[in-house]
Amino acid sequence: MALGGTWTEAQRYPENAPREGTAEATQASAAAPTSTMPAPSPTTPTSPTSPTSPPQASLSSGPRLPPAGERTYPAPGFEESTAPLGTPPALPGTQAEYAFTQTQTQTSPDGAPVPVAWSPCRPIHYVVDPARAPAGFAEQVRASVAQVSAATGLVFVHDGNTASEGSTAEPPAIDRPAFQPSLYGDRWAPVLIGFADETSVQVLGGTVTGITNSIRAQDPGTGIVHLVSGTVYLDTELLARPDVRGVPAHVPVLRHELGHLVGLEHVGDASQLMNPASDSVTTFQSGDLAGLAVLGGGACAPGL
Ligand SMILES: [Zn+2]
Repeated sequence: MALGGTWTEAQRYPENAPREGTAEATQASAAAPTSTMPAPSPTTPTSPTSPTSPPQASLSSGPRLPPAGERTYPAPGFEESTAPLGTPPALPGTQAEYAFTQTQTQTSPDGAPVPVAWSPCRPIHYVVDPARAPAGFAEQVRASVAQVSAATGLVFVHDGNTASEGSTAEPPAIDRPAFQPSLYGDRWAPVLIGFADETSVQVLGGTVTGITNSIRAQDPGTGIVHLVSGTVYLDTELLARPDVRGVPAHVPVLRHELGHLVGLEHVGDASQLMNPASDSVTTFQSGDLAGLAVLGGGACAPGL
């Protein structure tokens, strides 16, 4: 694993479409934030020679963090429960293919790879950017997110729309920060889902139709790496495409990107939604669903 002490790292998925049979490149980020995440440390003891030192915090007050505006990560544990909020469905076995974007360095007791996943013990917040999006997009997002929630057991919360302009707007940007306390408070930034074009997100040029930027962080207490934030952009060029099997062309791309968002990697099996070159699969198939069920069974992340 290449985290090497950095606390976030992005993985991007430019989608080559219209699925012209070309292999899609998975582009590792070169833009990972470089801040290290220090383990919260108690306040430094004040010199006993200082007569004006403030009283020390009681032991029960816990470690102190700098104000949010001086940090590059949120105070840990926002909305984190002690147990998963939901459970993934029990599925019939499948031979269909699935793959994970990244796995932990430690395997499970039975030797199986353990994927990097969201904490199932807190809700995943998301916002929808209505700019450049077609009518009904928020509902399409809601329905697609509900599919992912059902397949993983992960709980999602729609925080509403982003503002299209003004101080609370978030213009499309490939390097959207994972921590924006001035906009979202002292928590990881909610996932942003919207449309963009190559003028603001250059990777959407050419045949690329979507990109997901997943942000990971390592829990300093457990050493487990989790997904904590992310961004999904769909190419506005999709809006000019004909429907795919009665579905607006951007909807299968949206679902595919949400698969990336929760930790699925591409597969070669053309019958699965996570195949990057398929032109007819519009929603999650048996292999995709099997992978999503595993991704819903991640560990809690009390230290993030
Ligand atoms: Zn993809």
